[in-house]
Amino acid sequence: LVRATDIWMNRGSNTVLKGVSIEARKGEVIALLGPSGAGKSTLLRCLNAIEMADRGLVEVEGEIIGCEKVGEDYVRLPEKQVARQRAEIGMVFQNFNLFPHLSVLQNIIDAPMRVRGMKKADAVKLAHDLLARVRLSDKADAYPRHLSGGQQQRIAIARALAMNPKVMLFDEPTSALDPHLTDEVLDVIRELAETGMTMIIVTHEVAFARDVAHTVAVMGEGTIMEIGPPDEVLRAPKDPRVQTFLARAL
Ligand code: ATP
Ligand code: MG
Repeated sequence: LVRATDIWMNRGSNTVLKGVSIEARKGEVIALLGPSGAGKSTLLRCLNAIEMADRGLVEVEGEIIGCEKVGEDYVRLPEKQVARQRAEIGMVFQNFNLFPHLSVLQNIIDAPMRVRGMKKADAVKLAHDLLARVRLSDKADAYPRHLSGGQQQRIAIARALAMNPKVMLFDEPTSALDPHLTDEVLDVIRELAETGMTMIIVTHEVAFARDVAHTVAVMGEGTIMEIGPPDEVLRAPKDPRVQTFLARAL
């Protein structure tokens, strides 16, 4: 469903991604682990065409994301077209990134109405369904600053789901949260996995990765060092660098 092929990315004098390839099948949950600076966030931003790779391709259901082929070259698409493609790819960030001046309900209905042209009554109904799913039905009229971090993150997930995305990308969705708020967010992500949502989740929660992910990928120094079923990668990693990383993370 989602495929990145040979992604290279330079930032300043750093080569941040060095030929990364990864593929998520429909319904697959991939946990992306790895030390700070490995390139995990950069890879997610490429998958979502927030940043454009220097080389390599991202495809969602066979459609190239962010650029088109012209002759032998790939050319960045106009931002309007990229935005339309991006609507198919839900993204949830570490710091929630809700619109602070909008209520919870307005946060959720904004994109479906603006980008998809959904009627307000339909968007509101959808928002209430999603709020029930993240167990925050009573917060529709609240503003983000009055919510806990865990509640804000669950709203951010509902907001992303409102676009009915083909895939959801999470960048450390719980690392800004107090430990006691982490579980309520992980539970929502776990339930999403059970509905068959295709997801790529950057996380430091190794136990969660073992439980929920079908595939675990460990990145380091701009490459995927090891990828496979959680049992193999987490229990008996082959790459010594992965062994060292996991010994510290567990
Ligand atoms: P973390 O776990 O800390 O979030 P990460 O795996 O998400 O780390 P990235 O944020 O993708 O790592 O960064 C990968 C590397 O790219 C880092 O070494 C970082 O310093 C470098 N980098 C990112 N953005 C830039 C930039 N704009 N200019 C120069 N270097 C950058
Ligand atoms: Mg990061």
